[in-house]
Amino acid sequence: MTVQSIESSRLRAWVDVDLSALRRNGEMVARHAGVPLLPMIKADAYGLGAAQAARALEPLELVGFGVATVREGEELRALGVVRPVLVFSPLTPADLMAARAAGLTPTLGSAAAIASWREQGGGDWHLAIDTGMHRAGARWDTVGDLAELLRAAPPVGAFTHFHSSELDDGSMELQEQRFRDALAALPARPALVHADNSAATVRRSPSAWSFVRPGVFLYGVGSGAALQPEPVAHVRARVVELRTVRPGESVSYDATWRATRESTVATIPLGYADGYRRSLSNVGRVLLNGGEVPVAGNVTMDMTMLDVTDVPCAVGDIVTVMGRAGDHLITAEQVGAACGLSPYELLTGLRQRLPRIYG
Ligand SMILES: *Cc1c(COP(=O)(O)O)cnc(C)c1O
Repeated sequence: MTVQSIESSRLRAWVDVDLSALRRNGEMVARHAGVPLLPMIKADAYGLGAAQAARALEPLELVGFGVATVREGEELRALGVVRPVLVFSPLTPADLMAARAAGLTPTLGSAAAIASWREQGGGDWHLAIDTGMHRAGARWDTVGDLAELLRAAPPVGAFTHFHSSELDDGSMELQEQRFRDALAALPARPALVHADNSAATVRRSPSAWSFVRPGVFLYGVGSGAALQPEPVAHVRARVVELRTVRPGESVSYDATWRATRESTVATIPLGYADGYRRSLSNVGRVLLNGGEVPVAGNVTMDMTMLDVTDVPCAVGDIVTVMGRAGDHLITAEQVGAACGLSPYELLTGLRQRLPRIYG
């Protein structure tokens, strides 16, 4: 912690990633599901750092890890991850070759891909079944057509993916029924059957399947539901300048904010090139010294201004633009709602210019 404090005292803007909270979120969701986890650490663990996330989750009962691309899987292997790594997107024959070389487990949903995997020598793979997402996988009502291939190269797992598990609209139940129908149509039931993402896992306890595939919950997103994760990503910046702006004077590009009274404006070195979206101009709110202050004027590429007139503020003070500061919390959902982004986009949109500080 001391080393980190020294390190972050040099930093202007950064993301504190709370790996203990990440692990506790994993424990919480696993307890709720009653089955092991296959944490989704695709897209660099939703922007927070796949290597660190994998290490933090390592003590839990894991089936393996989930990624989206062969490259992401190769990176985990290079870090020494030896557990199964499932790649959740359709792969080209060249991808399959690389997946085999790295010891990754592909998820396949077309006759051509299954045949290609088999011709290259086979190995563990999971059958992707499309029950209504219509993104990837074999249609639930045509998996019977694959019977011959499946007998020749039986998958160790089969799965589907829900399109609206956060909604109570009956679609998840319909997809589950289609999944069960598809499983019944296979020549043999694979050892591992899985379906639940974060929202589905939270809604259903215990899980009906072999393991669950949570992503966003691990990274602290899921407020409002029965089971709430702890925040994991805290985006912070240090006040680098303070100025007094007189009534009638404007702040930032296009002069969209104008002082109605003598105002104190703080500048933080964080802008849309860091992932703090320009659409937060004049609508974003941030945490500072026990209070909440608004963004004043347009967010610029590298800097954002705040109206701190009503809160004590000095150069060097730390502002939290997302996450927890003391008793106050601004969730990724709240920041996302203010700028029209899903919390998924917000997290994966945090740019590399913001160092990730692990604690
Ligand atoms: C991303 C993904 C998940 C995790 O989804 P969350 O909503 O983040 O929990 C699970 N399964 C598949 C196939 C995915 O692509």
